[in-house]
Amino acid sequence: MKFRAWFQCINGCSGKYDLGEIIYRCPGCGDLLEVCHDTKLLKKRSARDWKELFEKRYRKHEWPYGSSVWGKKELVCPNVDNENIVSTYEGGSNLFWAERLGRQIGLDDLWVKQCGMAHTGSFKDLGMTVLVSMVKQMIADGKKIRAVACASTGDTSAALAAYCAVAGIPAIVFLPRNKISLAQLIQPITHGVLTLSLDTDFDGCMKLVQEICRKNDIYLANSMNSLRIEGQKTISFELVQQFNWDVPDFVIVPGGNLGNVSAIGKGFRMLYDLGIVKKLPRLVCAQAQHADPLYRSYIRGFKEYKPIKARKTLASAIQIGDPVSVKKAIRALEEFDGIVEEATENELANAVGRANRTGLLCCPHTGVAMAAAEKLAARGVIKKKDRTIVISTANALKFSDFLYKYHTDKLPGVKSECAYKALELPPDYNAVRDAILANTEGRPD
Ligand SMILES: *Cc1c(COP(=O)(O)O)cnc(C)c1O
Ligand SMILES: [Zn+2]
Repeated sequence: MKFRAWFQCINGCSGKYDLGEIIYRCPGCGDLLEVCHDTKLLKKRSARDWKELFEKRYRKHEWPYGSSVWGKKELVCPNVDNENIVSTYEGGSNLFWAERLGRQIGLDDLWVKQCGMAHTGSFKDLGMTVLVSMVKQMIADGKKIRAVACASTGDTSAALAAYCAVAGIPAIVFLPRNKISLAQLIQPITHGVLTLSLDTDFDGCMKLVQEICRKNDIYLANSMNSLRIEGQKTISFELVQQFNWDVPDFVIVPGGNLGNVSAIGKGFRMLYDLGIVKKLPRLVCAQAQHADPLYRSYIRGFKEYKPIKARKTLASAIQIGDPVSVKKAIRALEEFDGIVEEATENELANAVGRANRTGLLCCPHTGVAMAAAEKLAARGVIKKKDRTIVISTANALKFSDFLYKYHTDKLPGVKSECAYKALELPPDYNAVRDAILANTEGRPD
């Protein structure tokens, strides 16, 4: 069987475009494209056979199928030859049973999908492997591409830089100066990728990179390029697979540019269409209150939507006021009986504090999703027995500055409720013993 996929307008304009074409928007209406698959052909293989195939490949070493993205190649991007795949063995991330935290917030079946346990420390690897592989394929097919570029709040740039470095393809990243963490800034630099630090915000970088790409044979790697969505939708595939092909009740994901919530919706939808699952979960998109255009639209029943000017937030990777995938996200949420929740700076930081106290290691964006889980559980929207998944989007070690400031109670707008600190003591038996005895009782459960 030869499986094929193509680009098509999300509004149903006629026209199909090859995945190897340099095109990001519909020539008819100017809206986004999406990757479509030949469902009829895919359905020729039974649900049982698909599951068996995916299980056989999962985390094994046959190139490239051990990667959990490429292990589902037929459903993701069948158009790339295996020798052009650029992979770091992505996906297969841990599912953390947050038993102790769940008990504290009233959820018996709370899990954290650790998508930040990835080569570059965020879920962005899942989409970038698909995009950079397609670029390598296009170059092999003789397309003229000078470089690949993206605007980023820090994680997309890290992923683009690493994958291009793996493949030896030139890359350029556009970053808002002083708005990303030091760890994120150093990632493209250490891969030797051209790093542009610009005196603007993400939305400003986004505008500029689009114009540069359009006029200079540079390929755009932002999530308006729907190749990335195809990789990210494997989060849903993997979740279901890890639960023995059962669908959870709630999936909560932090949203900025809104590609990921769209991707997760698309992944579940595809499994449903292929008969691999029999129900759909409820999707929750969690936004920082300082960057919440989707939430504002949600509370008006999605009747209207207006971009906003995002304010500074500790969840810096989702400080986006004009999300490119908003239409896809609203469609996914409407289809999945979705909910949009928001978190203040104080709520997101203390949600991280509480989660980390139970052994998790959450970044501020995951904190936004955690705060949403807490609020929805408290309101009874999520019931005690509901299987609830929080998508952790990045490795918190990229945000050690945030954690340090949290624990020293130095975050603006935050009253740290779990601010533990190191005790500085003389190397003296009595002083150490007294400190231990004074601090080993009454720790919270
Ligand atoms: C990119 C990113 C997000 C937001 O994902 P979108 O697809 O832009 O909504 C959330 N958290 C982290 C850590 C990210 O890097
Ligand atoms: Zn169109």
